[in-house]
Amino acid sequence: MLKEHYELVILGGGPAGLSAGLYAARARLDHVLIEKGAPGGQVLTTDWVDNYPGFPEGISGFDLADKMTEHAKRFDVNIENGEVERIDLQDEKTKTLHFFDGTRLTCDTLIICTGARPNSLGIPGEEEMRGKGVSYCGTCDAPFYRNMDVAVIGGGDTAIEEANYLTRFASKVTIVHRRDELRATKILQEMAFANEKIEFLWNNRPTAIEGENEVQKLKVVANDGTDSSLDVDGVFIFIGITPNNSCLPLDVLQADQWGFIPTDNECRTAVPGVMAAGDIRSKTVRQVVNAAGEGAVSVLAAEAYLNHLRETE
Ligand code: NAP
Repeated sequence: MLKEHYELVILGGGPAGLSAGLYAARARLDHVLIEKGAPGGQVLTTDWVDNYPGFPEGISGFDLADKMTEHAKRFDVNIENGEVERIDLQDEKTKTLHFFDGTRLTCDTLIICTGARPNSLGIPGEEEMRGKGVSYCGTCDAPFYRNMDVAVIGGGDTAIEEANYLTRFASKVTIVHRRDELRATKILQEMAFANEKIEFLWNNRPTAIEGENEVQKLKVVANDGTDSSLDVDGVFIFIGITPNNSCLPLDVLQADQWGFIPTDNECRTAVPGVMAAGDIRSKTVRQVVNAAGEGAVSVLAAEAYLNHLRETE
């Protein structure tokens, strides 16, 4: 049952939100963590996580999310279900959250942990093969493709950076791009062009991902209409990410041109008392480990803001 007012509201229950919850509960802040589904965020839909410290054998995304939730519950993190429709930050001292069911609550400090989602191609086989060869994170999954052939979709910074990274493990990386020119920064392009393990398939778009229980083939169509296919063990899709920002006042938070929220090093946004942590932040590295770190940093910033409020009351 939600109260009308809290010292701290944490919006979103992914790694950033759960970590923020843990720190808030241990700091004995009057808090609530609001999550619209099951806690865990994108980790819940990640097949396997091999780069989160403390799990030397790796851990399934589902189990990691479960462990983070259990950890939060051990310290009585107050997790409530609810979906926020809009947030009013016009009054600097009182932040107001409006829920879709008509509920309303206010808080002194707010930590935004609403995350982001990778854009998908929307082609046959993509959803079915997710975690079975279809991946949206090279840094996470590259080591599973040692001595294998993979395809990378996209021509932006992320695609080219991740393609370069993938060549540490894969024997061949084919970058499939829908134009004949990359969007990525020149220096990243130069690295890719100089990399003997990277090949380019220009002017082509994926049409289907096929395989028996795991990825075996990527079907593509060229801009002139010619169909062809690549025999690959993995398809890495990097066609941009979308921030989960529909309930946020983007103008007040001075969102960047892609809709992510800029902060300082302590995760403080342009609005005093409002922090952002995890993938919704404007940043270049989006990993579980830094999302969790930012959750902790945000609570320390929230505490400092609350102390300041009390001193000036
Ligand atoms: P992005 O720059 O938007 O690039 C997306 C790429 O995917 C583009 O090449 C685009 O093709 C392609 N694409 C989009 N929709 C597609 C579709 N349906 N089918 C096939 N291809 C499709 O996204 P991003 O690479 O994730 O980067 C996002 C932002 O983060 C950028 O500003 C980037 O500079 C920044 N970033 C910075 C760094 C860094 O500084 N180290 C690292 C990563 C990202 P077109 O080119 O034809 O549009």
